[in-house]
Amino acid sequence: MKLFFLRKSPYVLPSAHYGGGRKRIFLGLLSGACLLLGCALALFLVLPWTVSGEHLRWLGLISLVLGCALITALFWLCLTLIFHIYTARLFPGVEAVRHVTIRLLFPLMELLAKAVHVERARVRRSFIKVNNEFVLARGIKTSPERLLLLLPHCIQRSACPHRLTHTLELCRRCGACPVGPLLDMRDKYGFSMAIATGGTIARRIVIERRPKLIIAVACERDLTSGIQDSYPLPVFGILNERPCGPCLDTLVPLRPLEAAVRHFLGLPAEEGTSGPFTARDEGAA
Ligand code: SF4
Repeated sequence: MKLFFLRKSPYVLPSAHYGGGRKRIFLGLLSGACLLLGCALALFLVLPWTVSGEHLRWLGLISLVLGCALITALFWLCLTLIFHIYTARLFPGVEAVRHVTIRLLFPLMELLAKAVHVERARVRRSFIKVNNEFVLARGIKTSPERLLLLLPHCIQRSACPHRLTHTLELCRRCGACPVGPLLDMRDKYGFSMAIATGGTIARRIVIERRPKLIIAVACERDLTSGIQDSYPLPVFGILNERPCGPCLDTLVPLRPLEAAVRHFLGLPAEEGTSGPFTARDEGAA
């Protein structure tokens, strides 16, 4: 019989929406990064007691107490996060753990991935999936006015003669790119929508509109940095599609996007779908 507190997270997202990104990559790198940091701290712990560290003996007690406390905190952090990712259960301290992971540990995990030749994009896709499940686990619901859909400029068709930098209303909804259908979706649900031409503009839009939650569409690199920069503001990331290569005439997966919008607005999933989540038989780890 499965223990109640070990029940699997109900917020599992389909890996197919994340370019095959799986949580196990994130979890493996997280465990590896914690182990590496733990070893480095253990070295700091024993250094004053080695022959070469004789002149550091005065550091002994301090390093013993500090080192043990940091190693314990590190392994507590790692286990807490793995438990949270697996079960999506919220408990005291989990926000701080997420914060440390997103801001401090993830850059170290990327370095570790590089050292063991794991493709960077795979690590980022895994991170985006884990982040999205974090956001879902927080149970956030918002009004349409405080939901911001942030899009990259490359979703506009490169041959389009209309400049949408200042207002999206100049779009003629001709159907040649996803901007038209997205404007239709915006009108249907009433959320806020903007196209950002870079990180600085994106930050300015967020400051001006003060959303409670952002749904951001972008590539792995921009989503990862956007999620890190915006923390603790929740960002639900949706990977764009790039049939013409990066940064040119990109596409948006409209069905997963609409499912996420409906979820955060507290609307029921469309008939015959499981909303943004994975049907149990799809497998998602
Ligand atoms: S839908 Fe048509 S008019 Fe609107 S941005 Fe795309 S190409 Fe331009």
